[in-house]
Amino acid sequence: MGIRVGIGEDTHRTEPGGPLRLGGVDIPHDRRLVGHSDADVLLHAVTDAVLGAAALGDIGAMFPNTSEENRGRDSAEMLTRAYAEVVAAGFRLANLDCVVSAERPKLLPHAETIRQRIATILEVEIGQIGLKAKTGEGVGPVGREEAIEARCVALLVRGDD
Ligand code: MG
Repeated sequence: MGIRVGIGEDTHRTEPGGPLRLGGVDIPHDRRLVGHSDADVLLHAVTDAVLGAAALGDIGAMFPNTSEENRGRDSAEMLTRAYAEVVAAGFRLANLDCVVSAERPKLLPHAETIRQRIATILEVEIGQIGLKAKTGEGVGPVGREEAIEARCVALLVRGDD
């Protein structure tokens, strides 16, 4: 079968202090994400979506959070390495569609920069990267700005399709 879909989802807590690293971009903000790596919740969801579409496992298996060498690791590097395995398995990306749930900051002003950054990492066109921003409507961990969540679906096609 030449067409494969994958889903990725991630949540990271926030803490005071900026900038906010999201989608491989440092966004000026008064809170940042917390995690073992650089905690880029969006790139983690993207990584799991492309790995999942190729049935290559997940980011936690590839980059264990128990490993010291993954501490503070650049998530763009993790996505680059994961996608290289996807390509080696004979696939390439058709498109991504992503949703980020964050109460603040407003992401729309940064959406094009983030989409271009992801497109550059995956060596595709910006038109292949969808990004939507939602708030938590003031309720729950997202609404209280305790966490930011991201979801992503990826469509892969066989190399020559
Ligand atoms: Mg994560």
